[in-house]
Amino acid sequence: MNQQDFADIRKQWASDAGPVVDMLIDGNLVQASDGRAFACTDPYSGQDWGQVPLATEQDVDRAVRAAHRAFEEGVWRRKPAAQRVAVLRRFADLIEANARDIGLTAVRENGKLFSEMYYGVLAFAEDCRFFGTLAETVHGYTIDMPMPGYSAWTRREPIGVVAAITPWNTPLNLLGWKLFPALATGNSVIVKPSEFTPVSTLLVAKLAIEAGIPAGVLNVVTGAGEVGNWLISHALVDKIGFTGSGATGAKIAKVAAERHARVSLELGGKSPNIVFEDADIDEMLKWTVLSLFATAGQACNAGSRILVQRSIHDRFVEQLAATARNVRWGDPLDPETQMGPLSNRPQLAKVSAYFDCAREEGLSVVAGGGRPDHPGFFVQPTIYADAKPDSRLILEEIFGPVAVVIPFEDEAEAIRIANDTRFGLAAGVWTRDLARAHRMIEAVRAGTVWVNTYRVGTHAIPFGGFKASGIGRETGIEALEAFTEVKSVWVNHG
Ligand code: NAD
Repeated sequence: MNQQDFADIRKQWASDAGPVVDMLIDGNLVQASDGRAFACTDPYSGQDWGQVPLATEQDVDRAVRAAHRAFEEGVWRRKPAAQRVAVLRRFADLIEANARDIGLTAVRENGKLFSEMYYGVLAFAEDCRFFGTLAETVHGYTIDMPMPGYSAWTRREPIGVVAAITPWNTPLNLLGWKLFPALATGNSVIVKPSEFTPVSTLLVAKLAIEAGIPAGVLNVVTGAGEVGNWLISHALVDKIGFTGSGATGAKIAKVAAERHARVSLELGGKSPNIVFEDADIDEMLKWTVLSLFATAGQACNAGSRILVQRSIHDRFVEQLAATARNVRWGDPLDPETQMGPLSNRPQLAKVSAYFDCAREEGLSVVAGGGRPDHPGFFVQPTIYADAKPDSRLILEEIFGPVAVVIPFEDEAEAIRIANDTRFGLAAGVWTRDLARAHRMIEAVRAGTVWVNTYRVGTHAIPFGGFKASGIGRETGIEALEAFTEVKSVWVNHG
């Protein structure tokens, strides 16, 4: 598509009310049982569009019971793994064939760059293929028994009914990390997407029927936290896979603990991106644009604490400021745009409140620090300096295109500052010194460490957090473990 095609789409969106979409419950595309619905908002224009069902508690109950019935009857888990693989491959092909429309929908509900969302949909299809293929590799192991006449081995079995609760910032990819390993291993799933970004998930759910996923095995219910709470509180839900804020994650973990349901949590971060004096600064700045600003900072693994060695601090801050000021922000559909708006109104209010906080705390504004004069949910790419260690802008996740630069003297101080956080999701290290890179990899307490790059990822590598950034891992082989129980078998054969 060229610039004119995107301009035409933008014009069309300005004049159309958007689709009326359905939930997926027990193989049927349905509206809410009481007919209530809610709208999405386009973060670029601020205009409402679309009509999404607002699920009732009865709808959630029906979805969970359908998932439970499908699991008990074994319509999916008892299929030979090769057949599940074939269905998931068909599902992946359908997602890929519809990537343009799904990507555009994701931009309309979320405001991130089309380039990112489109490739995100292709990656989502690849994740489906990857985990689908792994379905044939899920197996236990045999154990040499010291007792004669006994054999023993383990089996990996699906957990049962899985609730997948997803956030708005990367709706499909974070869904895929739960949905595909859960389906590959034979579970039934009920998805509750974010109330800000439900439509792309509903488009995908429709394709699941076409792919041949049996009724009840995949269900999607839509609505806000109340709907999510009905879902995770349901006695028939065996496992909750959640990505979102720490506050919601803690509530979910408490509810799950009451009935001993399994839970995995992918939560927030305040990741250090550590720049040593021997680093390739141009390369580091290039990745900062891609990893911090391209997402408008709405990435759990954003490198929002930039630690810089004092010997290069002043020069680096100037270069970073120029980079931030030169970021081309605007219409996320325009291929030239480097940063779109924030995804929703509450997020705009939250980031704006941090601008006020920075003023009150007396931080130095190196770039940005406010809102441009433009409709939609835009804020400026922002860099702060001179923050005290107890600044809220250093301690708290902002989830916007905002970073704080923090100087350090030497490696020991860099490690101390990097680890001085309740989070532990990710970290970046920029240095040409291989030995130092290895020391840092070992010393930094985070689920992912990138050296001389930032925020690259693939389904083959596990992702998740240390400390308050989460419990468990998604992607990688670990994801299959997260959706299976281990059964140990003993046989006395005399
Ligand atoms: P959120 O916690 O507000 O909402 C996440 C989901 O939980 C939504 O679907 C929401 O409707 C639902 N929900 C809210 N209250 C609920 C309840 N009581 N019971 C059940 N469900 C409930 O988070 P958000 O604002 O959508 O997402 C942003 C957050 O997600 C950030 O903190 C970010 O760091 C985190 N995140 C983490 C990762 C990761 O992989 N670690 C990735 C992306 C985002």
